[in-house]
Amino acid sequence: MSAEGYESRIIDGKALAQLVEEEVRSGVEELESSRGVTPGLATILVGDDPASKMYVRLKHKACERVGIKAEDYLLPAEASQEDLLALIEGLNKNKDVHSILLQLPLPKHFSPQEAMEAIAPAKDADGFHPYNMGKLMIGDEGLVPCTPKGVIRALEEYGVELKGKNAVVVGHSNVVGKPMAAMFLNRNATVSVCHVFTDDLKKYTLEADILVVAAGVKHLIKADMVKEGVVIFDVGITKEADGVYGDVDFENVIKKASLITPVPGGVGPMTIAMLMKHVLMCAEKSL
Ligand code: NAD
Repeated sequence: MSAEGYESRIIDGKALAQLVEEEVRSGVEELESSRGVTPGLATILVGDDPASKMYVRLKHKACERVGIKAEDYLLPAEASQEDLLALIEGLNKNKDVHSILLQLPLPKHFSPQEAMEAIAPAKDADGFHPYNMGKLMIGDEGLVPCTPKGVIRALEEYGVELKGKNAVVVGHSNVVGKPMAAMFLNRNATVSVCHVFTDDLKKYTLEADILVVAAGVKHLIKADMVKEGVVIFDVGITKEADGVYGDVDFENVIKKASLITPVPGGVGPMTIAMLMKHVLMCAEKSL
């Protein structure tokens, strides 16, 4: 990735994540001294998918950095949906567990939606529960999906105004695209959501003042698809033998963007930092 001469346009996701983690760390200390409560996160991992294991490990490391007590709950791949639901039910009732994270994807014979809905909304660290998603839709943002929340925080930190701006989201997943669009609408941006069936993607991306790309397609967005001065968040991750790639042709697109996230080191660290914020929020609200 070469961005020589354009370094000032790169959004430093790691530095932003550090800032957020510092806020969480002082919140944790405050909660411990005022109420004697240490925030606790229970992570559930089903099976032994290496990528999922790595993601859980990264989340546990972040917990260590900010003083959150993380507990690992492992189920074998051949466990049943009932086993998983029973585990979640137990964690819902456990007062020391303030928040629960179910690492996705689950092995094929599980129903992830049913499992996510079994998590108590007040302990929903990822913000995926339909209750929390519904609140997001009506502008009441509490526990919301962490990736779009990180994008919003970065926009605030870099002083990017959203009101009246054209925000274009590429990808309409429940975890990134849809909640991202809702957060932009909540801030009075004019929002377009594009996806794999969008006819003439470029027509939309060229209009973007703020562009969030979460398709998982390496270098989907080329320089001729964006306008000068655009602010870009590249959420996509494509792993290849020689490295990790985003959805944006970074080297060329940076020449037109006013701000852009790199891959890696952009959106990823912010996502985990926002998860830490959620765990603290859950603990603060617990009785
Ligand atoms: P998904 O895989 O569930 O859905 C992909 C979305 O992209 C769909 O809406 C699809 O219609 C759209 N899409 C696919 N091909 C397209 C194309 N050619 N043109 C336009 N739209 C297209 O999405 P997801 O779970 O939101 O993940 C998207 C990417 O973001 C993945 O690479 C994932 O690994 C990554 N991701 C990164 C983070 C992070 O923290 N950095 C978090 C979540 C997801």
